[in-house]
Amino acid sequence: MDKKIIEAPFDSYYGVFLTMACSFSCEYCVQKISLPQQPVASYPIIPGEDWVEALNSISGRARRKFLRPTKKKKLSITGGEPTLHPDFVYILNHLDKDWRITVTSNFISPFFQKDAPGLKQIKRKRGLKFNASFHFLYTTLDKFIENVQKVKKAGLLVHTLFIVAHPAYMDKIQQCRDALLEVHPNVKLQRFLGYSQGRLYPAQEGYDIEYQQRDGIYNYKDYQAGFNQQNKQDIYCRMNKVLFAPNGDIYNCHYKLYTGHKEKLGNLFRKGLHIALPADYFLCHDYGFCNPCDSEGHSFRRLDGSEFNISA
Ligand code: SF4
Ligand code: SF4
Repeated sequence: MDKKIIEAPFDSYYGVFLTMACSFSCEYCVQKISLPQQPVASYPIIPGEDWVEALNSISGRARRKFLRPTKKKKLSITGGEPTLHPDFVYILNHLDKDWRITVTSNFISPFFQKDAPGLKQIKRKRGLKFNASFHFLYTTLDKFIENVQKVKKAGLLVHTLFIVAHPAYMDKIQQCRDALLEVHPNVKLQRFLGYSQGRLYPAQEGYDIEYQQRDGIYNYKDYQAGFNQQNKQDIYCRMNKVLFAPNGDIYNCHYKLYTGHKEKLGNLFRKGLHIALPADYFLCHDYGFCNPCDSEGHSFRRLDGSEFNISA
């Protein structure tokens, strides 16, 4: 059997982007923030069997310690909208037990229509949870709640419901949050990340919300400089992420995955893959186009040697 080695800390974030296609086209989608200077990449669909075989071949996904429960590697399955992948159910059912899976979905796609037969075909119950984002500009509260209930009725764990706290709609957002809290105990507001009316959020004097989902952006000055999608400059960057693009290309940066950048670490589907995540700072020429998905706890070192962190 093929064995793939990815040298990275056990707690590195692992994310699989099954498809960049989405059932919505949110104008604030963080994946499109680099437009128009850098277009979003177009990727093919890879069959579920290939994903399962490759992901199950990655070694070191369980950490066994004497007299302690075995730790399993966490895997985030996302997109785009991951339920649009034609083999979505197959992938969930066949990824082995050394993966602890979180699916992030908008809960609105053909997969959830009518009595959602695909949900009942998901046999995996342990080591699987769903998080969902409610996009009230693109669907109704009733439809979203109906689909939350369908997922629960299928015996699947719904963990957190998120609402993006778009600064232009705060009254509506608070109403939606109250309504969702009546059907689910865990509802979180996320700060809006990206541009609205020409302004990059979050900003120092931004709107004042009590947000429940940490985005780790407290150093607004450097966030505004590094994530504004205007000018590129060299910097040393440190990243602890393993991100699989829909074609299996491996990145440690969301901006590079979203734009299909040439600087990738390898491809998951290559036999005998053996790669190492840079353990320390590495030189990047694209600072200025960093994606807000990479803001939390992010450390940088300028060429003059000074260091800063977006969270401090
Ligand atoms: S649902 Fe999410 S991935 Fe899809 S367009 Fe909206 S923000 Fe982007
Ligand atoms: S500096 Fe920005 S664009 Fe470059 S790798 Fe780091 S996060 Fe990505």
